[in-house]
Amino acid sequence: MGRDEVTAAIHVVGAGVAGLAAAVDLARAGVPVTVYEAAGHAGGRCRSYFDGELGCRIDNGNHLLLSGNRSVIAYLAATGGGDGLAGPDRAEFPFVDLATGERWTVRPNSGWVPWWIFDPRRRVPGSRPSDYARGLKLAWAPAEATVAQTLGPNGAAFTRFWEPLAVGVLNTEADAAAAHLLWPVLNETFARGEAACRPRIAREGLSETFVDPALATLRRAGGRLRLHTRVQRLAIANERVVGLTFADGEDVSLRLGDLVIVAVPAAGAARLVPGLDAPTDARPIVNGHFRLPGALGGQRFIGVIGGLSQWIFVRGDVVSVTVSAARGAVEEPADDLLRRMWTEVADVLDLGAVSPVAARVVKEKRATFAQTPAQVARRPRCQTAFANLLLAGDWTDTGLPATIEGSVRSGNTAARQARRLIAAT
Ligand SMILES: Cc1cc2nc3c(=O)[nH]c(=O)nc-3n(C[C@H](O)[C@H](O)[C@H](O)COP(=O)(O)OP(=O)(O)OC[C@H]3O[C@@H](n4cnc5c(N)ncnc54)[C@H](O)[C@@H]3O)c2cc1C
Repeated sequence: MGRDEVTAAIHVVGAGVAGLAAAVDLARAGVPVTVYEAAGHAGGRCRSYFDGELGCRIDNGNHLLLSGNRSVIAYLAATGGGDGLAGPDRAEFPFVDLATGERWTVRPNSGWVPWWIFDPRRRVPGSRPSDYARGLKLAWAPAEATVAQTLGPNGAAFTRFWEPLAVGVLNTEADAAAAHLLWPVLNETFARGEAACRPRIAREGLSETFVDPALATLRRAGGRLRLHTRVQRLAIANERVVGLTFADGEDVSLRLGDLVIVAVPAAGAARLVPGLDAPTDARPIVNGHFRLPGALGGQRFIGVIGGLSQWIFVRGDVVSVTVSAARGAVEEPADDLLRRMWTEVADVLDLGAVSPVAARVVKEKRATFAQTPAQVARRPRCQTAFANLLLAGDWTDTGLPATIEGSVRSGNTAARQARRLIAAT
């Protein structure tokens, strides 16, 4: 599509990863794009910021990706953030069990045949090959089945592999999480051999990888970003969006052919889009960040079984702890959480008498929608009842869990759909 042929303009509401993926795609195709963002920064739930308490820049939450996240890789290539992910050359997932002190590393092999499940040095201690083969049941799990019903709930493989995987990916307790939503993740990563399941984290920070390069690409392609611009209302007439009203009272009228992509979280979208059915429940994620007196060296992470902490990430002199599906932890006072987390961190990383120089708890109360069968059934498709209104976001019906991969894919779908609509007018 050449710039000269385009008359339609695209209005993207929300500058999270989903909105940015859609905006960059369309702007690069020559479509005039404006992104409206309520906050003073882009990135939404995937961003970095300077934390005054810690005296350094941190991510709003630890984000773990996998090398098989193909939409993320394509997004980074398109935005110039291609070098923004870091991780080991091999797929390795180190774990520690706090109750027994056991340590092990899950090491999938290369190639399509998963012989690692037959090697006791590569799988979870106490597990059997058949415990992993059971993962195939996820592919045929009925929509109402939970992860625990499908794969558990007993045995070492469940508590030391399937449960941490499900809770980490779906941010929902294994006995409530929708089993079928875990399948596409397995299918696109672990089922394709070690090259597709190498763990990846943002090299410097989430914004440096996922946001800043995308904004630069958007700008270069002629797109605009308006920060501090909350869309308060969509004006609708004859089944079309005809205008946007902002929180400060300003409004914008849409021309015939213009399109709107609403890429805000589910609750906000339900307020903007009349009659929209969307997930209503959410799950929190709690992160504890500890600044140490010196760098521990490199970047690494370790899964923790049997404690409050589920994953511990080390980046230079900052150690961060993740607790997903944190409905209990989110109610606890920050000081108590930090005390409990630090005891576990010191033990797991063998830090001896080291004490953190600063610490901070970040509670994201609505980190993702609750990925239960009932809530998953409420995910809407990209197209809406309104001819020129599309949806994007990790909560829309991507077929994937609410992750960065899902957000990018939702943005890609919205952009593809928008181009189709433009071509049809
Ligand atoms: C603590 C935490 C840890 C996570 N860990 C992982 C992980 O390990 N791996 C992984 O892949 N994913 C992880 N995720 C999930 C991932 O961050 C999200 O799936 C993704 O960032 C969602 O992007 P989005 O664009 O769909 O939504 P958002 O990031 O929520 O973007 C929506 C944007 O819309 C803006 N907005 C809202 N209302 C309006 C309005 N009315 N007008 C204008 N703008 C508006 C918001 O300010 C926001 O910037 C984690 C999330 C959290 C919170």
